[in-house]
Amino acid sequence: MSDIINILPDSVANQIAAGEVVDRPASAVKELLENALDAGATEIQLIVKDAGRTLIQVIDNGCGMSDIDARLCFERHATSKIHRADDLFAIHTMGFRGEALASIAAVAQVELKSRQIDSELGTQIVIEGSDVKDQSPCNCNVGTSISVKNLFYNIPARRNFLKKDSIEMSHIEEVFRRVALPNHTVSFSLHHNGRLLYDLKSGNFAQRIAGVFGKNCSERLYHIQEQTEPVNIYGYVGKTEYVKRVRGEQYLFVNGRFIKHPALSTAIERAYNELIPERTYPSYFVLLEVDPCRLDVNIHPTKTEVRFLDENIIFSILRAATKKALGQFSLATELEFNPSTEIDFTPVSKDYHPEEPKVTYNPNYNPFRSTGHGPVARRSDFEHFFDKEGFSPKTESELHADSMLDRLPIDDEPALQSPVIANTTTPISYQNKYIITTMKSGIVIIDQQRAHERILYERLLARRESEIASQQLLFPVNVRLNASDSELLNELMPELERLGFVISTLGQNTFVVSATPSDVSDNDLQNFIEQTINDYKSSMLQKFSDRDKSICLSLARQMAVKSGTVLKAEEMQSLIADLFSCQAPNISPSGKKTMFIFGETELNDKMK
Ligand code: ADP
Ligand code: MG
Repeated sequence: MSDIINILPDSVANQIAAGEVVDRPASAVKELLENALDAGATEIQLIVKDAGRTLIQVIDNGCGMSDIDARLCFERHATSKIHRADDLFAIHTMGFRGEALASIAAVAQVELKSRQIDSELGTQIVIEGSDVKDQSPCNCNVGTSISVKNLFYNIPARRNFLKKDSIEMSHIEEVFRRVALPNHTVSFSLHHNGRLLYDLKSGNFAQRIAGVFGKNCSERLYHIQEQTEPVNIYGYVGKTEYVKRVRGEQYLFVNGRFIKHPALSTAIERAYNELIPERTYPSYFVLLEVDPCRLDVNIHPTKTEVRFLDENIIFSILRAATKKALGQFSLATELEFNPSTEIDFTPVSKDYHPEEPKVTYNPNYNPFRSTGHGPVARRSDFEHFFDKEGFSPKTESELHADSMLDRLPIDDEPALQSPVIANTTTPISYQNKYIITTMKSGIVIIDQQRAHERILYERLLARRESEIASQQLLFPVNVRLNASDSELLNELMPELERLGFVISTLGQNTFVVSATPSDVSDNDLQNFIEQTINDYKSSMLQKFSDRDKSICLSLARQMAVKSGTVLKAEEMQSLIADLFSCQAPNISPSGKKTMFIFGETELNDKMK
């Protein structure tokens, strides 16, 4: 038989290899933007025509290239970023494979102009389908400008596979956001068909997020920050009331690189467990920094997949840090986004000296007497609702009891102290359903029933852990059930007892309730127990993961004040105070909104 093996010509080999790196205009954009960053640019312009089909141009003011490097950079495996195999284990740059420019040049008509600061003249190269057509000296600015024209001009099959312009352009914009967000100290602009889509000036991370997603996103985010040995965490996570039905704005970066990391995304989402309705997703913008030698970025050609050596611990730290961010309202977030905004300070006397930054919760306040919960949301806004007397102090570790944070150094972000107290307003009721009050962020409308459900739910959960005493009934109440419900009640007995019920069996299918949690009235215990069992049955059908929680939910629902109940002003005030001491004040335990905040900007808009 004759020999049948051929060595592929370079041009074909290059085209095949190119497919791995450049599969659509957006991937070429990513490589070019990353090269500009690696070159140390502080200003990067991206100019696109026809969604990248006819032109992708990146202009940077980075270090530029010499004549020889300008020619070499289009060779496969040509890179200035690693020298030895060892370097692979401590990657500090975005690129290092030396493949991108070779791949792009194999499938497009490329024109490169580059000049280094100490050269008077730059160099210009024209290359088409890997063939160098021309190299000559030229006048140009310091830095590099690279134009990629007619992508896939020599691979019609690929070109035909491109989607319509709007789709390709949305991929390009997404790449642009992923590169621009973490590199907030670099200025970026993006033009498409002559239109300026983004103009991002150098600034802090918050300003960059606002530049990309719009100014009012500051209202939707909490600050997250944690410095630990294996990882530093910095960024913003969405408030629970602004979750989305689709996983939209979820950005996780490690050492300045956008990554897809399902486990770490889960870590963030877990922190929202029970705080947000099912099948909704929080937004987040989180920068992680880890020692490059404890990170493997080498597992995927486009490098969005990475591996952490300390994945498990980073998972726990990230989840805990997110929880902490959600439990703690930070005025600093709003200040950072909007440095020029004046905050509504109550006038302070001249000899007022601001204290050192401190934790935002008041350790002397315990909303549930002895069963209080952790740091509160928007605490500073509601200081005026808190009755400061008669509360037992809580230690920090108690406050963080159910989070991982007690194992981590907790360095609290600066919080503004007493001058931030809002003016006291008397809450009013609308239709005996809604309580209306004001706070710094706007007019708050609270659903009294849902709010009370939230308060009771957290109180019950807390009680479950501390086994707080119950109220003895003066006259124990008999409860008679059918056979299957009796069985269920026996099953639920340990949980009910932990919540403060004392129930004993009197005979077959008959029980005696001799004590209840203090907020349960003994008016209709028969009904109460039946309803609890019913809720338990339906929660089993819905596979409610935690049966304790399902019981707390059922009790909270039954015990809560109902819509239509007339509340006194003091009752409304303490409801508001209790609500804002909850870990998740924004949402009822069954996943509905407890409140709506009408901010000043919104109000001004409506009044236009
Ligand atoms: P990699 O980025 O993996 O090294 P590339 O093919 O993207 O591989 O680039 C090859 C080399 O070309 C880089 O290592 C760098 O030395 C040089 N280079 C590419 N783009 C630029 C740029 N915008 N400014 C300066 N040098 C560049
Ligand atoms: Mg590169």
